[in-house]
Amino acid sequence: MTAKQRIIQVGSYAGSPTANDRLARDYDVVELWKYPDRKAALAEHGTGITALVTSASFGCTAEMIEALPDLKAICSWGVGYETLDIAAAQRRGIQVSNTPDVLTDCVADLAWGLMIAAARRIAYGDRFVRSGAWGQVHGSIPLGSRVSGKKLGIVGLGRIGQAIAKRGTGFDMDVRYHSRRPRDDAPYRYEASLVDLAAWADFLVVATVGGPATYHLISREVLEALGPKGTIINIARGPVIDEAALIQALQAGKVGSAALDVFEHEPKVPDELKANDNLVLLPHIGSATYETRSEMENLMIANLESFLATGKVITPVTE
Ligand code: NAP
Repeated sequence: MTAKQRIIQVGSYAGSPTANDRLARDYDVVELWKYPDRKAALAEHGTGITALVTSASFGCTAEMIEALPDLKAICSWGVGYETLDIAAAQRRGIQVSNTPDVLTDCVADLAWGLMIAAARRIAYGDRFVRSGAWGQVHGSIPLGSRVSGKKLGIVGLGRIGQAIAKRGTGFDMDVRYHSRRPRDDAPYRYEASLVDLAAWADFLVVATVGGPATYHLISREVLEALGPKGTIINIARGPVIDEAALIQALQAGKVGSAALDVFEHEPKVPDELKANDNLVLLPHIGSATYETRSEMENLMIANLESFLATGKVITPVTE
């Protein structure tokens, strides 16, 4: 029997059906999250390790990369990689893989769930019924707004943005988008100005990457352009929206509503957002279905296996 290959696992995959068990079964895993002093753990166990598994939540810093002199592959669970130091990895010729495509449909489905829930007050209505208020107060909850046939603006027409747009055409929506450059293959109108897109849209869905390039892209100006009848939906990353500006715009009635799966300082959600009954707030569950999480786990492990067997990951991050 050959000895198991040693790898580093940065965090525990609590949101994945069997990733922890599969990794522990097939590899000699240095479970980094169990060490109070990570630096000391890396110094003690790091030499000779060629592969590390992580996620956007756990990250992989330049310091970590530096502490692993033999590292050649970083295999991440999830598509976003803003907390992985890609530049530091590239400088060392380290391959980085993520798990694109397998989560696209579920994240797009959730964006739609958020959009309809906010417009039709589904979460509000659910709270109303559970509280026993129905029948005790006159009438029902306030009227919502129609979704079908409205104007859908998408910020970031990548894999997930396109899947959201495709669903929009099924709802007879007029779809436009903004990103850094127009796409030749997209049948939707491109808006070079994000403010113009927001001013046009009834629903503005954020589907960009996270990280410094998109930090506070959804600014006070964008929110005010969206206006009192507009709804902002975010399934990308919390810091893409200026959360303080969003709270102020909501309180001042300058933006209508928001439906958010992600927040600027997760898992902290500001009380001002929690207090607003017009909002729909979810705990970052865009990809959280059994099917998608299993596929993310399979692809992350397939990348690891492929690297260890052939020296190449299957789905490298390309920047
Ligand atoms: P993708 O295919 O790489 O698409 C990202 C899009 O963002 C591209 O269209 C890109 O277009 C656009 N973009 C990048 N920088 C921009 C900027 N400065 N301004 C405007 N647009 C910009 O990625 P994906 O697979 O669709 O995933 C998108 C993101 O969703 C991930 O990075 C992740 O953060 C998030 N996500 C969230 C969940 C969740 O649980 N809520 C789950 C999965 C993924 P250009 O390059 O043309 O600008």
